[in-house]
Amino acid sequence: METQFETDLIHAGEMKPFVERAISLPIFQSSTYEYSGEDDYNDIRYIRLNNTPNHLVLGHKLAQLEKTEVAVVTASGMGAISTALLSLVGHGEHVLAQSDLYGGSDHFFRGDFPRFGRSVTFFDNEKLDDLEKLLRPETRLIYVESISNPLLKVPDLKRIARFAREKGLISMIDNTFPSPFNFNPATIGFGVVLHSATKYLNGHTDIVAGVIATSKEQMRKIVPVLNHLGASLDPHACFLLHRGMKTLSVRMRWQNESASKVAHALVEHPHISKVTYPGLKTHPNHARATELFRGFSGMLTFEYKGTVDDLDRGLKKLKLFALAPSLGGVESLITRPATTSHSGIPTKEREALGVKDTLVRVSVGLESPEDLIADLFANL
Ligand SMILES: *Cc1c(COP(=O)(O)O)cnc(C)c1O
Repeated sequence: METQFETDLIHAGEMKPFVERAISLPIFQSSTYEYSGEDDYNDIRYIRLNNTPNHLVLGHKLAQLEKTEVAVVTASGMGAISTALLSLVGHGEHVLAQSDLYGGSDHFFRGDFPRFGRSVTFFDNEKLDDLEKLLRPETRLIYVESISNPLLKVPDLKRIARFAREKGLISMIDNTFPSPFNFNPATIGFGVVLHSATKYLNGHTDIVAGVIATSKEQMRKIVPVLNHLGASLDPHACFLLHRGMKTLSVRMRWQNESASKVAHALVEHPHISKVTYPGLKTHPNHARATELFRGFSGMLTFEYKGTVDDLDRGLKKLKLFALAPSLGGVESLITRPATTSHSGIPTKEREALGVKDTLVRVSVGLESPEDLIADLFANL
């Protein structure tokens, strides 16, 4: 039976018959399992080899949700990103990556990649005509985010996937911001889909976890490296992720709607100069986002009109927003990316990317949007 996303969240991959008739999958908190004749090291059942029942159920469910052949969970989003890149890009090979990436991915490309003998060239996702010129004989992969962080740009993802196919490159995409509820990159041709499951997939701000969803062919190259690097998710964290994911569709639907209300309201805010949300008609990529996504997710940014000191004082007065990095949970969070996710990037480069000191990023949670709007108007 062909089933919808909402149904798959609950039923896909679940063990049937239920284990000991338990409706909720138990936590298999056992590091090792009885040997039963496995002849491949990676098939021995062991937590680090990512193949306990808690891992396998999540993998099946996530593959169904991202519409890929297979998926694995990892110990963090960065665990997924670094493992996928190191296993698919060889020594001496080269990657084309979008320039405004999540801070951790940016640091990994700039700092660690060269030391591991891989190279990267960053491209402006508004200047895709340049891609052809940046290609090298050793270019192996193109790396993007479906909504960039923190500027919330939506690249021409169909064109990027097509470029990769024509040039024989692997296309890899970090789909954390939309979550699989809003967008499935594999359906437009992306080969490897990554998530920080710490964010919307888990949704409850209590674990870090990651996802790699791809074809069986690519996964055969990724899993042995994952098993050696050791970025395996503990079964208890698997359980929390599994529990969190079951409500993804109701949370995401609410967060899509609520963030849209907050964004529209902030346009009228006297101390705010520029609200960025892909669901606003004024967003430069609004038409593209509308075509690609089911909803625009719960993330928005704005620029404050006053000084950084005034802004910091206002942010501290907010009652309903915790001043914290990260995103995608039930609680609304607010942060200045210049001091958190992008603090490792030199000021000049940061400003060239459009991340000013007065840029504020909001992750809209599950509170009443009316209350959130009232808080932002009363205190900023
Ligand atoms: C948080 C985040 C990551 C890193 O995930 P962790 O779970 O913190 O390791 C990667 N990409 C994006 C877009 C993120 O928001």
